[in-house]
Amino acid sequence: PGSATPYPVEAPASTALFDRAQALTPGGVNSPVRAFQSVGGAPRFMVRGEGPYLVDADGRRYVDLVGSWGPLIHGHAHPAVVDAVQTAAAAGTSFGTPTEAEIELAAEIVERTPVSQVRLVNSGTEATMSAIRLARAATGRSKVVKFAGCYHGHVDALLAAAGSGVATLSLPGSPGVTDATTAETIVLPYNDLAAVTAAFAEHGTEIAAVITEAAAGNMGVVPPRDGFNTELARLAHAHGALLILDEVMTGFRVSRSGWHGLDPVDGDLWTFGKVMGGGLPAAGFGGRAELMAQLAPAGPVYQAGTLSGNPVACAAGLASLRLADADAYRRLDEAATTVSKLASAALAGAGVPHRVSAAGNLFSIFFTETEVRDYDTARTQDTAAFAGFFHAMLGQGIYLPPSAYEAWFVSTALDDDALEQLAGALPVAAQAAAR
Ligand code: PLP
Repeated sequence: PGSATPYPVEAPASTALFDRAQALTPGGVNSPVRAFQSVGGAPRFMVRGEGPYLVDADGRRYVDLVGSWGPLIHGHAHPAVVDAVQTAAAAGTSFGTPTEAEIELAAEIVERTPVSQVRLVNSGTEATMSAIRLARAATGRSKVVKFAGCYHGHVDALLAAAGSGVATLSLPGSPGVTDATTAETIVLPYNDLAAVTAAFAEHGTEIAAVITEAAAGNMGVVPPRDGFNTELARLAHAHGALLILDEVMTGFRVSRSGWHGLDPVDGDLWTFGKVMGGGLPAAGFGGRAELMAQLAPAGPVYQAGTLSGNPVACAAGLASLRLADADAYRRLDEAATTVSKLASAALAGAGVPHRVSAAGNLFSIFFTETEVRDYDTARTQDTAAFAGFFHAMLGQGIYLPPSAYEAWFVSTALDDDALEQLAGALPVAAQAAAR
């Protein structure tokens, strides 16, 4: 669809960098969703971030609605975060020993969330991978239930019917993941309790865990139906399985704890990432102390990392969480409401079928008339209309996620100027989507 976009924008510096990158890196990017594959064109190479804005290699400034895919709730280069990083880095970037910063970050996470112990890792992928290992070890079982369209990182067992880049590129799964691995994964439709009940009826004694995004954000945003997560916990526990709530995207964004703050559930393990690293690589997983005590060196379940709990990443995460007070969450909620209402009004004005779908301040806009409740309904989208919309926004200096299957991420840095620019761009982009 991309080659026929109505507002082609030349970006010579980005295009030259992309050419070089493609020679050296598969597809020219280090994570697939950064490429503009589903919308077409060369991805913009960014050189700087300032509050609500990104600046690209051609010197163009964009209002940023991606926020590094979630971590940057305070916008780019917030002075408190930059200070914390500079101070930590000047004291040494890594020691390979425990540090007090890890305790501080863990204490902040434990205070905000239902977990009583947390293990720090470097990415959301490591968090979910390790949580699954722990759940399998704790139950002595092997099968895992996941939901179609949910993305939990590129863990082999969880790459079946995954969201995010796997959805964007329309991939069923991934070559290289063995049948033996996916045979241990039961993929069910999201929001479908009858399917979960049936899976437990058939495989109840083999299921180690159900893993779910606390609120789905990787097939676009699809909130769990009322009581869905609670019922997952009940069913899992009735059959001796664990419930893993993946809050990598929602954690510390939709409330001071995450989705748990809006829809508390009696889960067993939680995974975190993104916001808790403040834009540096940090993630974690946690649960009750007895369960976490099975991890090495307290217990036999191996889990480790050369850079886990890195002092610079911990400093960035801690600074970011300390800024995330009640006022920050009020501003995030307000920004999400403003942006989604402006976008919906513009699309309605141009007669473009769409659905705003939100889980707290995390939202996305589906280019479809169909009510979206799961991956199948998410895929009723008109992705060509989205591509036209995306490029028209880009051409007017608004950086949206380059995929119809991704959430729009707001930040507290979105000020009146940025919102005004957005409001001006939306009607033009809506016209582009209508073509
Ligand atoms: N879980 C969820 C819900 C995510 O959204 C993501 C990333 O987008 C991950 C896990 C994987 O995190 P990472 O990309 O840090 O490995």
